[in-house]
Amino acid sequence: MYLISCLMISFLSIGWGIQDQPPTRESAKIPLTQSVAAGIYQSYLSGHKILTQEENPNVNAVNRISGRLIAAVKKYYQTGRKSKELEGFHWECHLILEKKEDAWCLPGGKMVVYSSLLNLTQSDAALAVVLAHEIAHILLQHGDARMQSYLRDFLYEKNLKSALSAKKRETLDFFRMAYGNGDYVGVIRGFSPKDEQEADELGAIFCGLAGYHPKEAIVFWERMSSLRGTSRQPILISTHPIDPERIPKLRLVMDQIVRTYYTSSELK
Ligand SMILES: [Zn+2]
Repeated sequence: MYLISCLMISFLSIGWGIQDQPPTRESAKIPLTQSVAAGIYQSYLSGHKILTQEENPNVNAVNRISGRLIAAVKKYYQTGRKSKELEGFHWECHLILEKKEDAWCLPGGKMVVYSSLLNLTQSDAALAVVLAHEIAHILLQHGDARMQSYLRDFLYEKNLKSALSAKKRETLDFFRMAYGNGDYVGVIRGFSPKDEQEADELGAIFCGLAGYHPKEAIVFWERMSSLRGTSRQPILISTHPIDPERIPKLRLVMDQIVRTYYTSSELK
């Protein structure tokens, strides 16, 4: 009986459902990570063409979608009484003239969307899926974990601070690789299957709260999966690999995410 009770308790506490609390971050290293990210973002922007609405009509869509997602993230953290986790975030998103089909988000909420990605997403909801997924990776600290392993395995340093003072240039290169803003695909590992599943789930929650149907994530990643191995394979699925478990795992939690978080934007 005791064993059954224990099993019941662990079943109830683990459940089969979604993670319904905003992730908590390891706060000690955050300010330095965010300030390094802000520097990398500024230097990236100064070396690339930021598109204006006059130059590309998609700028409005990128602003609208990123704005709704940022509001959704803040609402999610506020509801979970974890707004403190977003301290130091100064959200920013730009559309950049770039032939690759990709987007990224750095610690502190600095995002870019490459102009060619819009050819691939083709709708507001699909672009929301990609951006929400990128934001989720940051809030889940997946890049931080990768940076820790690069520090240990390649730079032989214990932390970001000591690596920056000993080997600044190499450290910044690895930082870009860890957070997906470097041109290193093929050299670096994509995110792990577990990271992808977590980012899919949290990203779908953000989409729902922003008024985009979370099921669009399944539609979009299935479409991306069908491009694998073809000449149309986008860089996005090299950095965010789709293993056979990924979409089925998202399906398992989708109904619960829709029920809990989605309100059609028409109703707002
Ligand atoms: Zn991913």
